Amino acid sequence: MSTVLQARDLTRYYDVSQGFLKPSAQVKALNGVSFELRAGKTLAVVGESGCGKSTLARQLTLIEAPTSGSLLLDGQDAALAGKVALKAMRTKVQMVFQNPYASLNPRQKIGSQLAEPLLINTSLSAKEREEKVRGMMQRVGLRPEHFFRYPHMFSGGQRQRIAIARAMMLNPKIVVADEPTSALDVSIQAQVLNLFMDLQDEFKTAYVFISHNLSVVEHVADDLMVMYLGRAVEVGEKNRVYERPLHPYTQALLSATPSIHPEQRRIKIKIEGELPSPLKPPSGCAFHKRCPHANQRCAEEVPELRELDQRMIACHRAEEINA
Ligand code: SF4
Repeated sequence: MSTVLQARDLTRYYDVSQGFLKPSAQVKALNGVSFELRAGKTLAVVGESGCGKSTLARQLTLIEAPTSGSLLLDGQDAALAGKVALKAMRTKVQMVFQNPYASLNPRQKIGSQLAEPLLINTSLSAKEREEKVRGMMQRVGLRPEHFFRYPHMFSGGQRQRIAIARAMMLNPKIVVADEPTSALDVSIQAQVLNLFMDLQDEFKTAYVFISHNLSVVEHVADDLMVMYLGRAVEVGEKNRVYERPLHPYTQALLSATPSIHPEQRRIKIKIEGELPSPLKPPSGCAFHKRCPHANQRCAEEVPELRELDQRMIACHRAEEINA
């Protein structure tokens, strides 16, 4: 299967002011992340708040340039693209945000908001644009009369349907969805997840699905990348990782995730402490202060991402722990 997006050693550092007359500090929000997204498939990116997921989303949607590393979108290197090529690349990757209300213009009717990407990026006539918008509205479960309504006239679930429709208007190769269901009622979440999956079946769009919730991504993901403090710690096929997680952090996250399969119930592993500040990341393995298996080497040496049991993992002791 072809690869639609390739990230190689992506980093994103921010300079942060520490106060008057103090030298600025550097936050390594993304610290060398590599992965591939298969065409028409879903890669779920999971981790605690502050692990670098949203920074990654901004790099993938070309909102921000990485500090270093490369991003190949549909075979094209974003860093080498000129202004015109970059504009064309941006139409291939669209974003759905956590808060649909904040991502919609409160003063613009839904019909014209959905038509906007077509107006900017295509030469379709007004009539053709309206036809396309109405077709997509129907596809995402909105009614024809919604065309002339404003965002405040919709429920949270309907607004997220509008945001998804807008992301799909240009038939992108990739949609990056950043916690797209976490602001919704539980009863609505499943409907929105099903909509994502139906649209993927129909349009063959690849998704990067960012979430802190492993039960949400279990239903939508083909592949899984677990992140901790700006790095990927385990990357692999979802079923393989869910059935037998090898990294202590993935094991702890999954042990705290309710499963609908009773045979998969796991012994709960408690992670002590909070996610460390990215301003002062721990030495060696960034997880070592919370990891029940940490030893001296873990405190001194950063574990590289390496292949083990048909996935990539960053842990010095993975073989011993999982023997
Ligand atoms: Fe734990 Fe060490 Fe593995 Fe890090 S490298 S996850 S501290 S065992």
